[in-house]
Amino acid sequence: MMKKTIFRLSFLLTILSTLWCCRNEEFSTEDSSQQRSYNSSARFASKSFWKEDEVYIHKVQQVFMKVANMEHVKSRYGDLYWDYAMTFGQFGESYLLVPVVKDNRVVLLMEAVREGNKVYFFEKEDKGKIDFFQAVIFSKITDYGEKTDSQNSTSSRNTPVFQCNTRWITIGCTDKEPNCIPYTTSETICKWIPGTTPKTFDPIGMDDGGGGGNGYEYPDPPEEKSPCTDTKNMLTSASFQNKVKKLEEKSQSKGEVAFLHYKDNSLSDTIQGGEHNVDVSAYSNYNGLYHNHTPTGIKMFSVGDIVTLYKIIMTQMTPQTIQDAFIGFVAGESCNCPPDNYIYHNYILRFNGNMSQVGNIANLSEEEIKIFKDEYDRLEMEIKKIPGFRNGTNLSAELNAQGLEKLFFNTLANMNIDENNIILQKVEKNGIINNINLNSSGDTSHTPCP
Ligand SMILES: [Zn+2]
Repeated sequence: MMKKTIFRLSFLLTILSTLWCCRNEEFSTEDSSQQRSYNSSARFASKSFWKEDEVYIHKVQQVFMKVANMEHVKSRYGDLYWDYAMTFGQFGESYLLVPVVKDNRVVLLMEAVREGNKVYFFEKEDKGKIDFFQAVIFSKITDYGEKTDSQNSTSSRNTPVFQCNTRWITIGCTDKEPNCIPYTTSETICKWIPGTTPKTFDPIGMDDGGGGGNGYEYPDPPEEKSPCTDTKNMLTSASFQNKVKKLEEKSQSKGEVAFLHYKDNSLSDTIQGGEHNVDVSAYSNYNGLYHNHTPTGIKMFSVGDIVTLYKIIMTQMTPQTIQDAFIGFVAGESCNCPPDNYIYHNYILRFNGNMSQVGNIANLSEEEIKIFKDEYDRLEMEIKKIPGFRNGTNLSAELNAQGLEKLFFNTLANMNIDENNIILQKVEKNGIINNINLNSSGDTSHTPCP
């Protein structure tokens, strides 16, 4: 009796598991477009081929869900496919595009732009980009890639540089299309700039437009990162101030020392160097380096310092963290001034370009560097001939701050470095940070950080 029951049970189980197996099987062979049928109220799970700012996508989705009237959104626009939202190489919770789908067609994109603690929703009706999303979601993609580039908005030298991200896909053919030829298409999106007035995407559907023009509250916005805030945050640390003080003392005697700024914001111990150099090749996980220049050394970044910044980027940084890299120096100069007849110069150099521009400088040979150094010395003598650029009346005087900054920017030009890719900051004794730029007249101007 018992045996029979067990037999029956196991027979039943076999049938059940067979059923399960086949249901499962059937599901996985289902048409892929049906598998994508989508519940837009669920949390997204990115299906993009590229790396996206998922923190931003998630938070924007939360904000949207909180305010949206989903019936209105569905009837007026369609379904938002959050799984295919793309941030196009932009990180730091700033930009995304969400495809809006109706009857298996991408009909529109919703653009979400964050400024401070507000996020704005816009309609983006760009046919090329709509087709791109259509292909990514519904076509057979056989290959894909991306590259990030900076582009000047115009040909003028002093216009800002925009980071642009280009994504490409190759669309293959299904078995049902015997005469089809695979093709590749790409779309580029550059950093969003305010100024235009795009059409508001209205998630609420009120007669007054739902107030979307004023943006929606964005929770816990990331701290704004800029060369000014980065330097400011560093200067407020007591341990950093102590280290710089030690460098100031060291700058009065022979030999160089340095300390490293690690990515977790901690600082290394003092690293002993040679007469005019410090070797940090044994260290890793740092994003910045501070050192002293000696009384006989120049009170400006040298060719070697510029190359070091590029090497830090090359060996320690990623495209996303590239702007965290820096090199700083402290130099002393005697004067008739209190408290110790010494005045200190404190400069910081940062990078504002992209990875593709780093190798040219980071990989310079010793011979090439030597040529730039000789040119640097020649330029120094040249600039010193102009009385307005030196401290004293005769040629034995040192270059003044204007002269040193001119020497720096001329050296960048010699090394074929676009000055827009470099940020030069001077930390004044009172803690004010000045951003130093080259004017069209060839002089430098100082813009204090807010
Ligand atoms: Zn140096």
